[in-house]
Amino acid sequence: MFALGGPRHASGVRILVVEDERRLAELLKDGLTNEGFAVDLAHDGREGLWMATEQPYDVIVLDVMLPSLHGYEVCTRLREAGNWTPILMLTAKDGEYDEAEALDTGADDYLAKPFSYVVLLARLRALMRRGGRERPTVLTVGDLRVDPAGLKCSRGDIQIGLTPKEFAILHCLARHPGEVVSKSELLARAWDFAYDGDSNVVEVYISALRRKIDKPFGRTSLTTVRGAGYRLEA
Ligand code: CA
Repeated sequence: MFALGGPRHASGVRILVVEDERRLAELLKDGLTNEGFAVDLAHDGREGLWMATEQPYDVIVLDVMLPSLHGYEVCTRLREAGNWTPILMLTAKDGEYDEAEALDTGADDYLAKPFSYVVLLARLRALMRRGGRERPTVLTVGDLRVDPAGLKCSRGDIQIGLTPKEFAILHCLARHPGEVVSKSELLARAWDFAYDGDSNVVEVYISALRRKIDKPFGRTSLTTVRGAGYRLEA
């Protein structure tokens, strides 16, 4: 296995740090390398997702606010692909993002910035001791079941086939049942932040979802809140 104690001891443990603040990334790399870990750096979400997919890591340190692909999105995509490498998410402390959301997307732990390096190290060691485990967060809204690990959706006993985009939108809505989710938030989650196309595309997918998750079952669970967004009711 790996050495939990000895500093400057080659442990065989590989850590991926996805952090766009270069100085912080280098500091983390230096510190963790000194602990005997092999550390790779990625400086944006896309690069991080690619590296985490291509290489086996023992643990991933993942910043939330990242260029090209948001940390939540990186986490969600890894989990959807069945990658359960333990993830410690670095959240911003400004309250813009709910820390519980980090865990919803499949992160194993989170640490709010600014953090103490000693605490980070302790959390990483705890995660590595626990190891990767399959922990798909299956969401249920009434009798609607949304399984992000298998990209599966069902109502009651009936399986519903969704496209990846439809699934991404439904997943976002199902994470906040009974709450209004804005069109821009759905756009940001289901598409890249860089998407600058027509936001009406969301409506197209909402209509498609209604035809699949509601209409055949005589339901109206997916409602439009005029001028605000959409809501998924139980
Ligand atoms: Ca950042």
